[in-house]
Formats: sequence, structure tokens, C-alpha cells
Amino acid sequence: MKIGVLAVQGAFAEHVATLDAIGVEGVEVRLPSDLEGIGGLILPGGESTAQRRLIDRWGLREPILDLARSGAPIFGTCAGMILLSHEILDGDEPVFPLLDVSVRRNAFGRQLDSFEGSVAVPILGDQVVHGVFIRAPIVERVGEGVDVLARLDDGRIVAVRERNVIATAFHPELAGETRFHRLLTTMAAEHDDPGEGSGRRHHPTRRTGLAR
Ligand code: GLN
Repeated sequence: MKIGVLAVQGAFAEHVATLDAIGVEGVEVRLPSDLEGIGGLILPGGESTAQRRLIDRWGLREPILDLARSGAPIFGTCAGMILLSHEILDGDEPVFPLLDVSVRRNAFGRQLDSFEGSVAVPILGDQVVHGVFIRAPIVERVGEGVDVLARLDDGRIVAVRERNVIATAFHPELAGETRFHRLLTTMAAEHDDPGEGSGRRHHPTRRTGLAR
């Protein structure tokens, strides 16, 4: 299983290293052809305004949307979360409107510009995530189909999932945290070979056994 990491700008190398740490091949994606054969895609942190320009310069917008719409898992961190949102509250147009959320960029103000802290993420198990927040966005609205995966102690939403798309305001790849990357890889494997009961693919031989 290969996982792509958008590599036009920002902290892509850390995601490739995190994938490497769990034995998964990370492919740096700069051109549409780099998306061939990958099972999922990571949108890294960085500067979302620069990233959106480069995404359009290299013609990546439509191919990435197609990949996401095919059901392949997508994971955005920080700037990646911004790119995946339906609405960016300070006025920029959406890039990959795949998550029915509204985000505010640089939402923590000057004093908390960057900070670290424990974040409970129940779908990853009991052990908390060490959240590294760097000029992070915050999710200010979630639509009906969106699961909230994590909140800060004050209730603000910092991780979400809608079907095959996951996003965090923080950076697991800067904290030695591998569980999001493992989850993404598992989702990619399931999407690749959904097996029994998913209804996505026909498995005539298996089905015969199940009939009656
Ligand atoms: N502040 C950046 C932006 O608005 C995101 C920061 C990050 O990805 N660490 O695009």
C-alpha cells in the first residue's frame, strides 16, 4: 500500500517519515501523475494560501477531488484541514470542499500562536495524543454528517471526520504519533479490498456461500 503526501509546500517530509516508521511507502505528490497507484493521500501543514496557489499551478485540484470522491481516504493536518473545509471563515474560497465544516485560520491569537497539549481522541484509544498546534485553525461549525473526533478542554473542535476524510488542527507527524497514519492506511486497505459485507464490490464466490 502506497500513501501519497502532497509535497508542494510545508511539512510533507515529516509525514513521509511517519509513514516510513510504520512500514508504509509514502509518495511525494507534486504532479497529477504522482497520484497513480496511491491508496490514500495526506495534505500536510504549511501555508494554505501558498498551497492553494501551487495546487492550481500544477493542476492537482481536480485529480485530488476525484481521488477523494472515489472513496480513498484523505487526511489533512492544519493547513490541510483548511484546504478540506467547505468554508474558510476569513473569506478565501474552498479548495477541496470535502468536509462540511467551517474553519477559522490562525484561530488561537498571538499569545497561543503555537502550543502543545494533550488531546483525547477516543477513536485512537485511551492514550491521549500529544497535540502540536502551530498557527492552527479551529473548527467553528460542523455539519450533520461530520463526526467530531477531538475537542480541547474548553470544547473547541480540533479533529473531525466525514466518511473517508479526516482532519486535525494539530500535527501528529511532529509528535511521533503514528495512530492517525495507521488509521489512514487501514482505511486505504479497506477501500482497496472492501471484502464481505461492504456492498461496494461483487464477490460472487463468497456471496454464493452466504445465500439462503
Ligand atoms: N496558519 C496556516 C494557514 O493558515 C496553517 C499553519 C499550519 O499548517 N501549521 O494556512
